[in-house]
Amino acid sequence: MCRTLGWLDEERSRTSPQADMATLRRVHDGAYLQALNAASDQGSVSAEWRERYNFGTMENPIFPHVFERAATTVGGSILSAQLALEGNVVFHPAGGTHHGRPDRASGFCYFNDPVFALLTFLDAGLERVLYVDVDAHHGDGVFDYFADEERVACVSLHESDRWPYTGLLVEQSARTLNVPVPQGTNDSEYELAWRKLVMPFIERLDPQAIVITCGADALAGDPLSKMALSNNALWHAVLELCALPAASVVLGGGGYNPWTTVRCWAGLWGNLSGGDWAAPLPDAALAILSGFESDLVDEDELEPHWLDRLDDPLQDASAREEIATLVEHLRGVHRLA
Ligand SMILES: [Zn+2]
Repeated sequence: MCRTLGWLDEERSRTSPQADMATLRRVHDGAYLQALNAASDQGSVSAEWRERYNFGTMENPIFPHVFERAATTVGGSILSAQLALEGNVVFHPAGGTHHGRPDRASGFCYFNDPVFALLTFLDAGLERVLYVDVDAHHGDGVFDYFADEERVACVSLHESDRWPYTGLLVEQSARTLNVPVPQGTNDSEYELAWRKLVMPFIERLDPQAIVITCGADALAGDPLSKMALSNNALWHAVLELCALPAASVVLGGGGYNPWTTVRCWAGLWGNLSGGDWAAPLPDAALAILSGFESDLVDEDELEPHWLDRLDDPLQDASAREEIATLVEHLRGVHRLA
């Protein structure tokens, strides 16, 4: 989509390199890496590996070149952080595999590329590195990896009572902010939490570098979650973070509705890179949108604006009382009041 819109030129894009085994071993267990590599080559998985490593399942299927795909995602996140350190804002939409564990796959994630981006910042000598996750699901793999690392702070806004059932309201610390929001969270509610809670928390941390997982599954119309944001809400959040005086890497993440996901990430890149928003979408872009098919989204659920524009109408119904209460509670916990 970005290429079709003329928003991707050679000067401003890079091809992700594939991370090698030695690089992957820094975070991931050697036996797990060997097993995933072999399964990827063979296209099959033993019962023992399925049990031990959680791949070859519905949740983490083995498909051709899955190892290379996952390793390239990691390579892209490392390169993104390196380019960010040179003063760029970098968007790596294939990244954001935030559930990956050192020794097993989880939630469509085989490795954990956000961890590698954050480690790249630490390797550069930075002492105040921030992870922000606006995917509908809690970024458990990243939070747990850095649980004992004082130089990394983690923030997540995610849907409450949703898999992986971590990031609870009680899980807070000086460098941990979890904001579990209810089903149906709209733009007004998100903006309230962002302005009164998330940004004050982040500004106090004064981060030198930020890694953002911008999953698109918190958008209205995503079949795997029940939040109700427009893509404007996520763009606003990411752009505000990227405007801070810090090296910024923006990753993708989840997103199970091809119409909302592609429009969100294409529009995010357009916003970050100064794309031309004035013109109506060209026919080639319309053809991309009308060409999608999804087993998870019924045809009668398609919104007209999914087919002819990138930006969603605002979801700006008034904020519910429970959101204001949540924000005030967390402002108190973090002494932001
Ligand atoms: Zn997700």
